[in-house]
Amino acid sequence: RSGRTRADALWGASESQKVGLMSFTLAIVGRPNVGKSTLFNRLVGKRLALVDDQPGVTRDLREGEARLGDLRFTVVDTAGLEEATDNSLEGRMRRLTERAVDMADVCLFMIDARVGVTPTDEVFADILRKKSAHVILAANKSEGSAADAGVLEAYGLGLGEPIRLSGEHGEGMNDLYVQLMPLADKFDKIAEATSPETDVTVDEEIDEDDDLSVPMPTANKPLQVAVVGRPNAGKSTLINKILGEDRLLTGPEAGITRDAISLQIDWQGVPMRVFDTAGMRKKAKVQEKLEKLSVSDGLRAVKFAEVVVVLLDASIPFEQQDLRIADLAEREGRAVVVAVNKWDAEENKQEKLRDLKEAFGRLLPQLRGAPLVTVSAKTGKGLDRLHAAIMRAYEIWNRRVPTAALNRWLIGMLEQHPPPAPQGKRIKLRYMTQAKTRPPAFVVMCSHPDKLPDSYTRYLVNGLRQDFDMPGTPIRLYMRGQG
Ligand code: GDP
Ligand code: GDP
Repeated sequence: RSGRTRADALWGASESQKVGLMSFTLAIVGRPNVGKSTLFNRLVGKRLALVDDQPGVTRDLREGEARLGDLRFTVVDTAGLEEATDNSLEGRMRRLTERAVDMADVCLFMIDARVGVTPTDEVFADILRKKSAHVILAANKSEGSAADAGVLEAYGLGLGEPIRLSGEHGEGMNDLYVQLMPLADKFDKIAEATSPETDVTVDEEIDEDDDLSVPMPTANKPLQVAVVGRPNAGKSTLINKILGEDRLLTGPEAGITRDAISLQIDWQGVPMRVFDTAGMRKKAKVQEKLEKLSVSDGLRAVKFAEVVVVLLDASIPFEQQDLRIADLAEREGRAVVVAVNKWDAEENKQEKLRDLKEAFGRLLPQLRGAPLVTVSAKTGKGLDRLHAAIMRAYEIWNRRVPTAALNRWLIGMLEQHPPPAPQGKRIKLRYMTQAKTRPPAFVVMCSHPDKLPDSYTRYLVNGLRQDFDMPGTPIRLYMRGQG
């Protein structure tokens, strides 16, 4: 079973030869103790995207940047779940797993081959089936023959052929690679198929005839919104107002203890799940600690959100903490809406708004065009605008641009402002396609991606933003070489 594969060949590849993109998200799910963390650590190494080392912050989902051969992807680990004795375990496990499945493009469902299939494993298999998740089944701890019986049992789950894996010893990683490769292949195909003379075929490119409509949130897949901002910005008040009831505690003094909350609401007919970071623990007495804690809570919320609402206090807008979280949301590829709260208390509204817009452009250039709405969580004024801004941000974030339109546009952009020609050889941009949405990500085939200056990439990104009407959303543009 140890034939030399492409993965083997790439294992020793130098850093510069590794050209994968962060192309998809893999969630590792399964009952406690099957070896999820061990595999996660192997895939991620030290490249943890988010480390939550704050005591008191529950760490239930970890996310990291995984590498497997030349593949780059995001991996989500559900291993924070401890083996609990109470009967709430199944509910928690179910919720956590469902959340992970919703975040992921593909799930690695892990069982312990030394133990065999347990009733708890069956519960997981059920969840995955109900969610119609794309599943890769892994029988872990498969080193040695003690695992043979368990591997056979795994077939009985009806989730396809299990991979024999040993996360601890690194066995079966090639098989995992082979199963994951097709997911990243979309990117690779573009690169391989493109040459100056031939026509390009891409498997899943977006065509004029495709359904370009944005998936509407449903009760089962609500729009995930995080409301983030410094303590006392008014997050709880805002969520209360939206809920129309005083379900959460609010108060003038930061430091009130509240529980971590995410709430499902139906806001003007749109199902939303709101991560309320104000509800996160605020036990810390020292201000410095509190701020740190809020930041890491904010980080978590950003991870789970589709749209991040950065709530500012109009009297102290764009504080360091606000800027950090807004920047993080952009880097994580989330749609961002900036809401300026306590607008009711502002005297000179017009002048203030001008100042805010100026500060926004100066301090957060990476969020160019993102909506800035003024609200009063207290009176409810501006909440309609906020709702509209969230919906629009979500729509743009999901936007699909047909390949033909993109390539027509690219030709125009190249004519208007040709790429540079280092040493007399013009860099050629040959073909472009949208590789994914949420946020919109584009791939351009380029003859010398390493020589193309960042300014040219910015020119294209800004052009995309403007010409396809995508303000405010993070836009990813990848240059792909051929070779
Ligand atoms: P999790 O709760 O699913 O995240 O499981 P962990 O990754 O914490 O692993 C649970 C236990 O199984 C630990 O003692 C690991 O060392 C062990 N383990 C993990 N992977 C393997 C494996 O491939 N083979 C064997 N024999 N043990 C493993
Ligand atoms: P959180 O820490 O971000 O959840 O903030 P809270 O919702 O607890 O609000 C902090 C304080 O700001 C409370 O005293 C609120 O009454 C007040 N507040 C919240 N929203 C508004 C608003 O729109 N206008 C005014 N004037 N005060 C507000």
